[in-house]
Amino acid sequence: MDVFSTEDRSRIMAKVHGKNTKPELIVRGLLHGMGFRFRLHRKDLPGKPDIVLPKYQAAIFVHGCFWHAHDCRKGSKPTSNTDFWNEKLAKNVARDKANATKLKAQGWRCLTVWECQMKDTGKLAVRLTVFLKKLVKRAHTGGSRARTNR
Ligand SMILES: [Zn+2]
Repeated sequence: MDVFSTEDRSRIMAKVHGKNTKPELIVRGLLHGMGFRFRLHRKDLPGKPDIVLPKYQAAIFVHGCFWHAHDCRKGSKPTSNTDFWNEKLAKNVARDKANATKLKAQGWRCLTVWECQMKDTGKLAVRLTVFLKKLVKRAHTGGSRARTNR
């Protein structure tokens, strides 16, 4: 499935393959290429989401696989000092969960994207699109009440 026209895709890819390849910048580049406006690191929100789309009340977290204990190769725990790392990383995961719960309670939609997903920006773009399309639809149909056509 290709959700972008060739023109869109090349515009997005041009941004992605720029000099900045940090995960957060990749995500920002993709969103920008799709024409979304966003804000960064809203300190007044739980967990200071990396990217916030105020119009759609959406928060995107860009997580490093190691520090947030992603279930992938990059997220595997160190083999020395295991007690220390287990505790530290478990705390991070618990904090992430608590923040997401708080955000949701305030009406925010959350998406977490992972460092390891930056390898395949095409796939990542699809994930972002799926998430945002739902929100755009919600915004255009006047919120959660207008769900009759689903
Ligand atoms: Zn990962």
